[in-house]
Amino acid sequence: MIPVNEPLLNGNEKKYLNKCIDTGWISSEGPFIKKFEEELAKKVNRKYGVAVCNGTAALEIAIEALGIGKDDEVIMPAFTIISCASAIIKVGAKPVLVDSNLQNWNMDVNQIEAKITSKTKAIMVVHIYGLPVEMDAVLEIAKKHNLKIIEDAAEAHGQTYKGKPCGSFGDISVFSFYPNKLITTGEGGMVLTNDEKLAERCKSLRNLCFMPTKRFVHEELGWNMRMTNIQAALGVAQLERWDEFMAIKRKMGALYTSLLKDEKGISLPVEKTNYAENIYWVFGIISKKENVTAEILMKKLAEKEIATRPFFYPMHLQPIFKKMNLFVGETYPNAEKMYTYGFYLPSGMALTANQTQEVAKTLKEILN
Ligand SMILES: *Cc1c(COP(=O)(O)O)cnc(C)c1O
Repeated sequence: MIPVNEPLLNGNEKKYLNKCIDTGWISSEGPFIKKFEEELAKKVNRKYGVAVCNGTAALEIAIEALGIGKDDEVIMPAFTIISCASAIIKVGAKPVLVDSNLQNWNMDVNQIEAKITSKTKAIMVVHIYGLPVEMDAVLEIAKKHNLKIIEDAAEAHGQTYKGKPCGSFGDISVFSFYPNKLITTGEGGMVLTNDEKLAERCKSLRNLCFMPTKRFVHEELGWNMRMTNIQAALGVAQLERWDEFMAIKRKMGALYTSLLKDEKGISLPVEKTNYAENIYWVFGIISKKENVTAEILMKKLAEKEIATRPFFYPMHLQPIFKKMNLFVGETYPNAEKMYTYGFYLPSGMALTANQTQEVAKTLKEILN
């Protein structure tokens, strides 16, 4: 079976993990945490990084730290992972959805402004699959309406928008280091900001809101969302290969593109826009034939021992949100189309050129 994702852990990972064991630093105290936070912050031009236990936790901390709460509204894409919407809902706020742009697969920035009400507090941008959100438009709208930006850069490690790193645009930005992300810590995440007060608040929230002076006396409730030194050790080793990993992804994307570009039945990720070069966090494809759904193609690929993943299931269709009476009567046709016809091919860091070729060849046989 060609797996959909396999990470590369053959740098200094073992060496740094051994260091954790040898020194006894295995909890969230320990030198790799600070190093990982500082080094990632530097890579994405942020002053502060706060490492947490996963990307979902990072989103929850970001929302809470910005003071978003009951009856507030946050604009976000319909096409994304559940973590984005659940972070908003869990503080009593309301996610307000925007449909996708079928060219770049991100939220259609032209639909944001119409969704703003007197309750809107923030826009959550999520860079999807490999190209960044069109940030100029978002920044302009946020400024005009005095809205905060939460930037989910979990899929955009190393990506830039007009030369500026993804993760550097939000009032708060978040990353995930799940094993399918460009760099991984097994489980892990980070919140980044340039605002010292926000950074301090995030640190407090990840650590049960312990007070620095009166230990075990609490004026607020937080969570235990700390990252361990063991995870951060992996992170530091992975960060050393940031540029190399970006190059691997782009090479994979270029190879898939060259092998599949003449297939009439599918559309491929856009290689390049005037603001970014695709980083191919995953190599997604969308079937163009009405009777050839993602489900059919994925099943046929699985029969040939090739693993794939469906695209995100749009937020407005989620059974849990229907039960909560959210998004009643709303439709987001582009997000629905992407889910119905889109899926992604094996795209992990350990994927070889031979495997890429085999996947492309098999897909072509199935399509024809
Ligand atoms: C992976 C991912 C997350 C969640 O990260 P976890 O570490 O799995 O909790 C959040 N947002 C996006 C866009 C992601 O791709």
